[in-house]
Amino acid sequence: MSPQSVTNHLDRARLTIRWQAGDQMQISHATLRAACTCAACDQMRRLGWGPAVEPGVRLLALQLVGRQGVLMVFNDGHGQGVYPWPYLRALASAGQAPRRGDLRSPPRARSVP
Ligand SMILES: [Zn+2]
Repeated sequence: MSPQSVTNHLDRARLTIRWQAGDQMQISHATLRAACTCAACDQMRRLGWGPAVEPGVRLLALQLVGRQGVLMVFNDGHGQGVYPWPYLRALASAGQAPRRGDLRSPPRARSVP
């Protein structure tokens, strides 16, 4: 389950992922940061605190990690979290619906297993 392309829109603070099947997802930087998979954030979540996310957080860099996922580097110092592709997919599905005007074409119906 690796995507066809991943595009980071710094100006809109969103990440666009286009999957092999042709469907496309957008996830906000804040959502990604809130779901950070680094050890510190993981522990925060386990304690039930959830990671504290600055409203203006930005995803600065992405680095592919083999075929399994992508490492994300944020401007608040979190840059150790590897996001597996299925995790990102689930995150995008669970996240907010795309805002009006964000997508040029209407989103396709998603199949939920
Ligand atoms: Zn983190």
